[in-house]
Amino acid sequence: MSVGAEPRPGLRELEPYESPQPEVPVRLNTNECPHPLPDAFLNELAAAVRELPLHRYPDGNMRRLLRELAATAMHPLEGVWAANGSNEILTQLLQAYGGPGRRAVVFEPTYLLHRRLCMLTYTEVEELRLDGGFELADAQVGAAIAAAPDIVFVCSPNNPTGNAQPLSSIVAIAQGLPDSLVIVDEAYGEFAPAGSAQALIAGNPNIAITRTFSKAFALAGARLGYALAAPSVIEDLRRVRLPYHLSSLTQTAGLVALRHRGDASALLGAIRVQRDRITRELRSIAGVTVYPSDANFVLFVPPGNATDVWQALLDRGVLVRDLTAVVPNALRVTAGTEVETGRFLDAIKEVLAR
Ligand code: PMP
Repeated sequence: MSVGAEPRPGLRELEPYESPQPEVPVRLNTNECPHPLPDAFLNELAAAVRELPLHRYPDGNMRRLLRELAATAMHPLEGVWAANGSNEILTQLLQAYGGPGRRAVVFEPTYLLHRRLCMLTYTEVEELRLDGGFELADAQVGAAIAAAPDIVFVCSPNNPTGNAQPLSSIVAIAQGLPDSLVIVDEAYGEFAPAGSAQALIAGNPNIAITRTFSKAFALAGARLGYALAAPSVIEDLRRVRLPYHLSSLTQTAGLVALRHRGDASALLGAIRVQRDRITRELRSIAGVTVYPSDANFVLFVPPGNATDVWQALLDRGVLVRDLTAVVPNALRVTAGTEVETGRFLDAIKEVLAR
């Protein structure tokens, strides 16, 4: 019996990307900023949107947005690029540097999308493992260089483990593989005390950094990400992007967000305080293993079955991320507002005391 059109081989083995978004009182599962945007931001955005000529295509070269991003990041304009979330930047990098016959190294456990986007762009994946403390250490650097891939993904701070990776390891990979692209995913870079890999680009033009407005800029709903790289990499992204890929609505949201970046940075401290509170309080509970975090979330291993703990938290109105498929028996919790974080801590203490 006919079942209709056959997709490309292997596609139906891939599950659609789903992240649960149930209406629960405390949602700490997707590493968003817990604080809504202030009224001054919303009023300015509404006024700017009203002025947009939406019957026209947007500026395909994203000139104002890229100029402002370059000035804010203090990076040469020719090395800056923007797209619909850093996920689209990663896709474009893979379209340009991956593809059939090309191979990418990922260091597991890490952000699942890296592997998934490789698959979607027909890029072969070679999985290496981070060390016991989830660090990119000398052994991992050596293995990556020996693998001689076309692309290396480094996520720093790493999702879901939370730790930032040593810049010395990133340089060593870039220098050991001068003809390969080293993608440093800094989606959580603003939360990390250690430096960004940005300063490495000048001496290592094969390093490309991806960042996002979804976390520290509190703008996950707008879908805006950007890349900092050498001009030659950005030239290659221009070859693969769709015409007018970034809507004028998104470009405008980005411009307004950059004007209000002082408000966003002011919230970073408050988010770090809640992250450190989670780390401290979870560590005080017997039997819980807590991993140190440079991001806006904390990975921990509770005693007993983590999926049961996840469900018991959800029954109490608190949604965290079940990562047992990625790190054995682990859960990840996003730093929330002070009240949300308190509700999580009360709930987990109650659940683990049972
Ligand atoms: N990289 C990492 C490591 C992430 O955790 C995320 C979001 N969960 C992204 C990239 C994608 O972010 P966005 O597409 O919203 O910019």
